[in-house]
Amino acid sequence: MTAYLSSKLRQQIEQDAGHRCGYCLSDETLTGIPLSVEHLFPEALGGKTIHDNLWLACRPCNEYKGIQVQATDPKTGRKAPLFHPRQDRWHEHFDWSEDGCEIIGKTATGRATVVALRLNRNLLVKARKRWVLVGWHPPK
Ligand SMILES: [Zn+2]
Repeated sequence: MTAYLSSKLRQQIEQDAGHRCGYCLSDETLTGIPLSVEHLFPEALGGKTIHDNLWLACRPCNEYKGIQVQATDPKTGRKAPLFHPRQDRWHEHFDWSEDGCEIIGKTATGRATVVALRLNRNLLVKARKRWVLVGWHPPK
């Protein structure tokens, strides 16, 4: 179902994304699990396989995102657009908790994305704790 992606385009996306998931910022060289190229605007809704609509995501973030483009902000109960790694700046919408292990949404988009993509999933928080211990996390 996924359209053909040239290796040149894939390399470009990897470089743009810095080998990190666009949402949880997990680094594929820490997890050892290659990130997927994801459609920012979902392919199922007509999103194209072109540079501007592609980014890297880890499998859980990609799967929880699914075909959503917005989600409910838990603070207001209103819909908010999901974080867009190409258009939005991560630090404007999110912060790391003091211990570096959890992602805190700072805006409606940030809060909605934390919930929808489960950016503080149990196993990932456990992994971050280990990364913090050895100074690999949080990313600068
Ligand atoms: Zn992720």
